[in-house]
Amino acid sequence: MDNKLMLMIPGPTPVPEQVLLAMAKHPIGHRSGDFTQIMAEVTANLKWLHQTESDVLMLAASGTGAMEAGIINFLSPGDRVLVGCNGKFGDRWAEVCQAYGLNVETIKAEWGKPLDTEQFRVQLEADTEKQIKAVIFTHSETSTGVLNDVETINRHVKAHGEALIIVDVVTSLGAVNIPFDTWGLDVVASGSQKGFMIPPGLGFVAVSPKAWTAYSTAKLPRYYLDLGKYRKDAAKNSTPFTPAVNLIFALQAALRMMQAEGLESIFARHQRLTQATRAAIKALNLPLFAPDYAASPAITAVIPDQIDAEKIRSVIKKRFDIALAGGQDHLKGKIFRIGHLGFVGDRDILSAIAALEATLQDLGYEDFSPGAGVAAAAKVITHS
Ligand SMILES: *Cc1c(COP(=O)(O)O)cnc(C)c1O
Repeated sequence: MDNKLMLMIPGPTPVPEQVLLAMAKHPIGHRSGDFTQIMAEVTANLKWLHQTESDVLMLAASGTGAMEAGIINFLSPGDRVLVGCNGKFGDRWAEVCQAYGLNVETIKAEWGKPLDTEQFRVQLEADTEKQIKAVIFTHSETSTGVLNDVETINRHVKAHGEALIIVDVVTSLGAVNIPFDTWGLDVVASGSQKGFMIPPGLGFVAVSPKAWTAYSTAKLPRYYLDLGKYRKDAAKNSTPFTPAVNLIFALQAALRMMQAEGLESIFARHQRLTQATRAAIKALNLPLFAPDYAASPAITAVIPDQIDAEKIRSVIKKRFDIALAGGQDHLKGKIFRIGHLGFVGDRDILSAIAALEATLQDLGYEDFSPGAGVAAAAKVITHS
């Protein structure tokens, strides 16, 4: 049967019909009055989503473009930066910083474990000369399903006083509470194909007043990704270059849906889906890759040590048309990842777990009582 693909990967995530329909229109001129009105609405709603009074700027770029903008606008060649690396996206931050000639010191944790916040404290306290210009890491590490502790690391950054805190929130924004202003975060980067529920192609960067101060003296080269240009034009509900007009139609519809649901309900839904998924995997006697205390609200990674993870992915895709994500880099074939980010509901989790049980049985794994996964997920869903 065609057209019934169920996307359970951490991005691109499923897109609601009303968002798809919003895109299915002729583009309009980006200097027109109609477009200006849309920009005014989405700009206000992006601030609402980020819980900030400061700027949230929009780029025609994938999430990595937003990350790169988050570096090059606020730092200068040779600046000392602390980068947290505990997965593929943490490593990407380090690569972007190295590409631009920053003086990168990494704080590493094993893939599948959260970053050790104490290591940040020790390094920041030792820096009495205030040479560290930024602390950079990924909140929800999509490659492993680990959620890093932004709040604690941020407290250490605030105690340091000088460094900016720059965070990849690509798979945590719109899934878990990130009060940008209350916490005093400086730069957060995200992308449209994750919690936003729209197709790939837009990147977002929120910028604090402190980061704008750094911008005024930052010396890395920038042109297309010069956020000052976007800020200036955003004040007139405009953009410096031709924006991805149809994706912005989609964004307008998606942000309206998010407002109707409300932030608290969105976070509660992601928490429920995460707990239901984890309870089900435990009931199937499959090991979870990330610990309970650092579980990503977007993605659950499973390490089925007795079975090839790629076989599970291929059978569940072929038999049930459910796309799960595989492991990246050295984890390929070792883990599979279940996405539960964005436009995902209770029914999707129940279906995916039921299909996973059938897939496991098909592959000869019988170390669970049939129905145990579904029962465990249903219990979480009906009791929360
Ligand atoms: C998806 C993702 C990105 C951005 O990837 P793009 O392919 O450039 O959109 C960055 N960080 C994390 C944690 C992600 O999950």
